[in-house]
Amino acid sequence: MYQCSKDRVKDKIETFSRFGSTGNRGITRFSLSKEAIAARNEFTKRMVAIGAEIVTDDMANMYATIAGFGAGLPRIALGSHADSVRNGGNYDGILGVITAMEVLETVVSEKIPHRHPLTAVIWTNEEGSLYPPAMMSSGVICGKFDKAAVLASKGVSAEAGSSEMTFGEALAASGFAGDEKNRLNPQDYCAMLELHIEQGPVLEAEKKQIGVVDGVVGMFNYRIKTRGQADHAGTTPMSFRKDALLAAASAIKWIHAELDTFPQDIVYTTGEIKLHPNVHTVIPDDVDFSLDVRHWDPAVLAQALETIKSIPKEFDNCAVTYKEAWSRARCEFNKELVGLVEKNTRALGYSYMIMHSGPGHDAQYVSGMLPTTMIFVPSKDGRSHCEEEFTTLDEAWAGVNVALNTALDIDKK
Ligand SMILES: [Zn+2]
Repeated sequence: MYQCSKDRVKDKIETFSRFGSTGNRGITRFSLSKEAIAARNEFTKRMVAIGAEIVTDDMANMYATIAGFGAGLPRIALGSHADSVRNGGNYDGILGVITAMEVLETVVSEKIPHRHPLTAVIWTNEEGSLYPPAMMSSGVICGKFDKAAVLASKGVSAEAGSSEMTFGEALAASGFAGDEKNRLNPQDYCAMLELHIEQGPVLEAEKKQIGVVDGVVGMFNYRIKTRGQADHAGTTPMSFRKDALLAAASAIKWIHAELDTFPQDIVYTTGEIKLHPNVHTVIPDDVDFSLDVRHWDPAVLAQALETIKSIPKEFDNCAVTYKEAWSRARCEFNKELVGLVEKNTRALGYSYMIMHSGPGHDAQYVSGMLPTTMIFVPSKDGRSHCEEEFTTLDEAWAGVNVALNTALDIDKK
């Protein structure tokens, strides 16, 4: 079994944590910002130093490739994203990029023979922090999003603040927009591996070093509305009111009571609520809230959907309506690659469990194009998208070793 350099992994984690540092352990590194460009320049510097050839595609995805000894063979890609949410951590995304770099650096420094070219990838704007949607650029090149629509995306996220520019303008100004012909594609590439932090508490709770990820759960996202009547907060007796916010609270309680009877691993969230008129002296007349439901089993999701559709048409004298915002079928990763990750994890002597990913990742879109899989490493206390996000060096190093040996196994196929 091959092992990468723990010192080099440590150095990269420390170095990249400086690009966009908040000064409080975390980073804010929106895609294509000057902080993100500094991280990209560091990636370039390190990859050029090992003799990699670097190109970008029209969505500014970066590809650093070292040649293999076989002629005309497709590339094996490894990678993740280098952007973050506001006040995010030093591991989400970037650890997968560091893994890809470290795999290439190890192969070069140890002179490990490989037939296929190996490519380290940075996916642009995975978080969609400033320019939605998330997983934007893997989505465009895998045919999930319309390119013209995402180029027009304007900074709208309340969490991130707003940008003066559209994504297309930021892309043009970045200097990283390259040629469409450089996109990852099924002729020039034969596989993609993405290492990522778990972003949840399961691996730590189960005392496992590696998550062998077999896919990404399916989900649906609904908007639920309650319609009441706006009236004066001082003059309208309680019994006369049609308070849409009270009705929304009742609807959310109802959804929880119903979905709590489902298998324990179903997860559902109301994370966004719009309230009209949102004035402290006015009884709300309109509320519109989100409902995100996720599970691995399509039958369980279908049953949850039927439950949502059976929501009472009225709560607290207010009308209740719903409609689908969007949904996504579960994604199953390539079984052969999942098997190779498991085999190598076992051979390296690491504890592991097979698991599904709850969040979406670039690998999910790529899996529709190429054999793809993911490797998870633990997140301390399950924390992510925050400055406290942490994975120990030993855990990160173990994950890189699994990626290294898996890439070299794919190379033998
Ligand atoms: Zn991520």
